[in-house]
Amino acid sequence: MAVRQRELESGWDLDPPPSQLLPLRLRAGACSGSAAGGGRRGPRRGADASRLRSARAHLRPGERPRAAHFAGRAAGETSVRSDWPPGAANHLGRPPPPPPPAGRSPGGARRLLSPWGKILAGKGPGGSRRWYQVRPALHCSAGALLPHLAERLCLYEKLKAAYDERCADRAQKAGGPIRISLPDGQQVEGESLRTTPYHVASQIGRGLAEGAVATRVNGALYDLDRPLESSAALEFLGFDSPEGQAVFWHSSAHILGVAAERFYGALLCHGPSTESGFFYDMYLAGRTVLGSELPALEEACKSIVREKHPFERLEVSREDLLELFKVDGRVRICHGSQQCGGLIDLCQGPHVRHTGKIRALKILKSSSAFWKGDPALESLQRVYGISFPSSVRLEEWEQLQEEAASRDHRRIGKEQELFFFHELSPGSCFFLPRGAHVYNTLIDFIKSEYRKRGFSEVVTPNIYNAKLWELSGHWQHYSDHMFCFPVENETFALKPMNCPGHCLMFAHRPRSWRELPLRLADFGVLHRNESSGTLTGLTRVRRFQQDDAHIFCTLGQLEGEIGGCLDFLQAVYSVFGFSFRFYLSTRPEGFLGDAHVWEQAEQQLEKSLNDFGQPWELNPGDGAFYGPKIDIQIKDALGRYHQCATIQLDFQMPMRFDLTYISKDGSTSERPVMIHRAVLGSVERMLAVLAENYGRKWPLWLSPFQVMVIPVGPDAEVYAHEVRETFHQAGFMADVDADWSTTLNRKIRKAQLTQYNFQLVVGRKELSSRTVNVRTRDSRQHGEHGLQEALLRLRELRDARLRNAEELF
Ligand SMILES: [Zn+2]
Ligand SMILES: [Zn+2]
Repeated sequence: MAVRQRELESGWDLDPPPSQLLPLRLRAGACSGSAAGGGRRGPRRGADASRLRSARAHLRPGERPRAAHFAGRAAGETSVRSDWPPGAANHLGRPPPPPPPAGRSPGGARRLLSPWGKILAGKGPGGSRRWYQVRPALHCSAGALLPHLAERLCLYEKLKAAYDERCADRAQKAGGPIRISLPDGQQVEGESLRTTPYHVASQIGRGLAEGAVATRVNGALYDLDRPLESSAALEFLGFDSPEGQAVFWHSSAHILGVAAERFYGALLCHGPSTESGFFYDMYLAGRTVLGSELPALEEACKSIVREKHPFERLEVSREDLLELFKVDGRVRICHGSQQCGGLIDLCQGPHVRHTGKIRALKILKSSSAFWKGDPALESLQRVYGISFPSSVRLEEWEQLQEEAASRDHRRIGKEQELFFFHELSPGSCFFLPRGAHVYNTLIDFIKSEYRKRGFSEVVTPNIYNAKLWELSGHWQHYSDHMFCFPVENETFALKPMNCPGHCLMFAHRPRSWRELPLRLADFGVLHRNESSGTLTGLTRVRRFQQDDAHIFCTLGQLEGEIGGCLDFLQAVYSVFGFSFRFYLSTRPEGFLGDAHVWEQAEQQLEKSLNDFGQPWELNPGDGAFYGPKIDIQIKDALGRYHQCATIQLDFQMPMRFDLTYISKDGSTSERPVMIHRAVLGSVERMLAVLAENYGRKWPLWLSPFQVMVIPVGPDAEVYAHEVRETFHQAGFMADVDADWSTTLNRKIRKAQLTQYNFQLVVGRKELSSRTVNVRTRDSRQHGEHGLQEALLRLRELRDARLRNAEELF
């Protein structure tokens, strides 16, 4: 299961994280045309680039569609039968996707439709693609069931009855005893096409049956009420599993959809679960969702929860599908009773059993979005929500949100005068002196590790001829995200990643095996052309630096290098106080290169992870197309996960740049393997993560407020400045508070509240003995110490990068 932070600067130079592409895979089968305008659009060029673009634009920082549900990877099912003509879903001018591997999608079809607007009906006469244009009826008073919905519901009922009959018939004919094995080794008897996972759970215990959200059947996600077809390995997923949470929030999104349909007569577009809840994109024909309407919308959702509508699954033929959606172009999954209206939507599932499972639900906010994230297409309204299986969980979440809001790095950045943004350079941060101190201290930390770990720092150009990225293969995918400009009739661009430059550096003269592993590190400034609407604080920026390095090594050195990378990130993260988790992403469909090399490399990564001894999870098929990778997520003080570090193998770039080295026996030219790795990732983003993690209370070594010198009276002011200068010269962020309009105690309190790690109080006594009186921000009193002694001790504590220097002084 792909769980990754979205704004993965460190990995951006490579491949968009797969989960980012997944919803677009869904969309790939959807219409690129305009529903409101109704105009037909031709195939879009650069589908991959636009897919990436829309994937990015679609999401805001901190949210991303959950992968498993939409990927169909685990679903093994489809809402539309496999009698669709081959390639019918593909109308983007691209070749049809490769057939899913055995066991993933038994019907061989993962057909996805435009949720509204148009339905592709396959090829028309003469081979041209034919569209069924449908115009939605938009007039609706809140709460009333639109006529077309009633009509569709009617047809749904008919189809569902026939479907149920077919299922029953099939169960009669093909049913038989099956054996269900559970994770603990238990075996349960069942009946094919009759026994459901819910039946099995109920046999085991009521708690399990009621607590389960979905199941995994032979590795694929399943609805609890979906009959098992044959003997299977069964695993129940609760809300606390990532997949369970995704199913829960996805189901909640449907509830929001039903409510929005009733409330606004909205045309529903896209409603995924995200890492922190769910949203629904809807078309309201120019109308905006008002903040004042959200409580009523939430109430509408809650009434749907109270009504306990079951989520039903119906597989329909293409003809029936077209009939169902002749009105407005949607297929169904969840439906309520006819009296209260129901949502019929095209979805692969799975879902919770019924809407009543969503015991606590909150509608959070609304914003605008674009169809497929493309500003050239329709403007949509996006409504966000969150839900939990109990109201206690919701309350806990609300408390955490309050804490998170007070720790928002943008707020801290302003309060502590660390940085700001200006409209004249959106997405490029201005770091003020205190912010620059933190920024540079982070870089210095990594530099000191580089020296210990055999990395060589290099400096490379910021602008390159576009030919560089044509050679590296980035141009076709990423040029839309690069700042390009003409120079003497050629196209140049600001670099968005360092790797191709490092390849040029490797290739500029013959290399020997003796030089490997070659570890080139670069803090080069990178630029990425993010659309201004998606820019958010330091987490989504246009200008950033990474602690980026590329290791060129032999296949045989891989194990040692990966081990070294893991050790490196552990060393850094333990200083920050982060715990972390690993994911190993392996060969995806459409991988490049030799399968044997891939297997070897994957085994190496696996071995390195096992040797490292921390638990890790497999993310099968989620590697980049050029090599497998290890994704690392750190956990902050609020329990939130962030992806910053990455370790990615690359077999492709050395080939594209024809990188070689002379082998040990001197006879042959060998191809090195390249490792892309970063520990902090983007320094900008890491600074944001750290600011929120520490919540203003920076550890001494990183602190922008290290020492405040407080003179007791005017007599000691000159000495106070001398003390401040002594610390300043030693590299500390030190200040003097010589404000005589307030009392000593107030000054101490103020320095503590500003989170100065140490307050050095000096009066006549200290002046005569050249000492300082040491206090800390957490009101510890360490007493009188010689100035030089105090300086030495603070230096030690700073250089050791200890997190509790105040306590240890
Ligand atoms: Zn669904
Ligand atoms: Zn790279």
